[in-house]
Amino acid sequence: MTWCDKCCSKAIIYQRYSGMHLCQAHFDEDVHRKIRESLRQTRLFGRGERVAVGLSGGGDSATLLYVLKNMFSRRKDIDFVAIIIDEGQGVAQARLISQKLGVPSIIRSMHSSTGSRAKADLLIKTAQESGADVLATGHNLDDEAQEVFLKFLKGDVEGLLQPSPGRPIPWIKPLRRVPEKETRLYAITHGLYHHKSECFTFGWRLEVKRHLNGFESRHPGTKYSLLRSLERILLLKE
Ligand SMILES: [Zn+2]
Repeated sequence: MTWCDKCCSKAIIYQRYSGMHLCQAHFDEDVHRKIRESLRQTRLFGRGERVAVGLSGGGDSATLLYVLKNMFSRRKDIDFVAIIIDEGQGVAQARLISQKLGVPSIIRSMHSSTGSRAKADLLIKTAQESGADVLATGHNLDDEAQEVFLKFLKGDVEGLLQPSPGRPIPWIKPLRRVPEKETRLYAITHGLYHHKSECFTFGWRLEVKRHLNGFESRHPGTKYSLLRSLERILLLKE
């Protein structure tokens, strides 16, 4: 049996990039710390906010809503609304999660073959219509690193500098420092993961995903480096 490096409980995960074995309590603490760090960077939440959370029925967005709801439980000036885009799957699970967490939900339908760009537009539009000040989605470190790598490969500098041009409300990704493997583990260990949301990856994105996972296994921390490179570029822009 392997033990936690911070206490004497049983470890549930080994993080190769940090060299740490963590028990459930210290793993949870680590996930919460990474989320708080990302939230601090957004410079929002200083005052009251209505937060729309995109809920897919998968583990990532369920984890996001669960953590945010708990984190801000004492802030009466912050309330949540779940936006569920019905693409034919995951809706029942998404509704169940929002009901379980006592968060009202809005469902909008969209054909599953519609592109991710249109889905993003519908999310933002619905969030704005619901009176939200900010939209939060469950994109994790893997999603973000793939996006950055892809933009570098395509030479899309404008896309790097302006991740969400012309958006009427800010779009934040509080799980961006949490690796996909860890958002899944968090969801499973907190009873939030029942439905496997199919996310089809193809073309360049699939190649990038495979290469990044290869780099990460040979050089742990690669995904964090990519995210940091984007953050540094954005700082230089300010
Ligand atoms: Zn521990």
